[in-house]
Amino acid sequence: MHLIESPDGLGQGHLFVVDGSRLFDVEAGLFSELRQTAGGESLSRLLDRVGLGGPPRIDDEPLTAPPVRALSLAIAQKCNLGCTYCYAQQGEFGGAAKNMSPGIADASVDLLLADAAPGERYNLAFLGGEPLANRATLQATTRRAAALAGERGATLTFSITTNGTLVTEADADFFEEHGFAVTISLDGPAEVHDALRPYKGGRGSYETVMERITPLLRRQRQMQVSARVTVTPRNLRLRETLEHFLAAGFHSVGFSPLLRSPSGADEMSIETLETMLGEMIDCGLEYERRTRKGERYAFANLTNALKEIHRGTHRPYPCGAGAGYLGVSADGDLAACHRFVGDDEGQMGSVLGGLDTARRGDWLAERHVHRQEPCRSCWARYLCGGGCHHEVIQKGRPACDYIRGWLHYCLEAYLRLTAAGMYPDPAEARAEGMTNR
Ligand code: SF4
Ligand code: SF4
Repeated sequence: MHLIESPDGLGQGHLFVVDGSRLFDVEAGLFSELRQTAGGESLSRLLDRVGLGGPPRIDDEPLTAPPVRALSLAIAQKCNLGCTYCYAQQGEFGGAAKNMSPGIADASVDLLLADAAPGERYNLAFLGGEPLANRATLQATTRRAAALAGERGATLTFSITTNGTLVTEADADFFEEHGFAVTISLDGPAEVHDALRPYKGGRGSYETVMERITPLLRRQRQMQVSARVTVTPRNLRLRETLEHFLAAGFHSVGFSPLLRSPSGADEMSIETLETMLGEMIDCGLEYERRTRKGERYAFANLTNALKEIHRGTHRPYPCGAGAGYLGVSADGDLAACHRFVGDDEGQMGSVLGGLDTARRGDWLAERHVHRQEPCRSCWARYLCGGGCHHEVIQKGRPACDYIRGWLHYCLEAYLRLTAAGMYPDPAEARAEGMTNR
């Protein structure tokens, strides 16, 4: 249970029931009774009394053999940039620079679409290193996968995360033709970005990136081009960054804190996460103001959180890693996700030898949020899912106050926007079948 005060000071409030991520308006008497309840047995009794009890919606059982619906290919394990904090260690994941061969890429697509049936949805993502360093294989794989999905009547979407330095006009045409979701890694305006994301020789990359991606930003019809900002102690001015990239024409802008880098460089601390939370809320409040004025303000973190709250998302894992989503290394090894490429922890077989279902079963059992501490007793557990597996395994859970602070703000924003009739957009809600409250 998590309680949210109403801003009017009349004692009424809102109750977020963790089980099922359900949100209720609560009158003053019950709100005060809930506030005084210590939790445990007495809380269960109180929830039963007001009709909110019942069997848990999420039990301790791990997912069993979920179908693989998304793969990311480390199509090029090499990169031309030397970002200070790169989890892929400048693209090579601690090994030799290499490209994925067309044979491994084809075997990956075959694995993804092996049982594809009409109407089912799949995603194929290209990551690196820098994926455009292996353009020929990327294009051939996209064409073949699109044809295969088409033959089977399945819907296949494509995505790519790129540093933007190698993009050409022809790439823009190609991504537009195949409706790619393109994510450009950018860390802020020129000076800030250049300090964090220089070329290997030390020269800044900002000017090249912005020039190279102009055709992408211009062409967005089928494709969408978003900016993803990795937040470090050196680029904490989020509102300025958000508005800078929205003005440049990005479809949306999202932020993610750097909790773990191979060398420890530029990792966020408890103090800088606190500063980041303030900045995120500042961006959120501006989103609320703009929404009330009927303007679009594409702050991806908030738009995604609002959708999840509205749908009543409750899940026992933070993401699809090792479940419906797997990463493939340039050599064809399967990993729990793109960040586990080259890491023994998340290995799960290979595209040629097949998925190691026993290892995947163990992973899904071990990573269930009910097996994580202190997640088992955290009110945010079914929205958060226990935190990124890779960061948690490598670094622990330094960001929990940040995560809870952010989700608390998002619940408040949701309550304010729905009360004002500003959320959700009725057409969008109908289309997506969203419900809550
Ligand atoms: S906020 Fe922290 S404790 Fe809570 S579910 Fe997420 S990772 Fe676990
Ligand atoms: S484990 Fe972390 S990096 Fe991998 S998909 Fe999940 S959230 Fe993303």
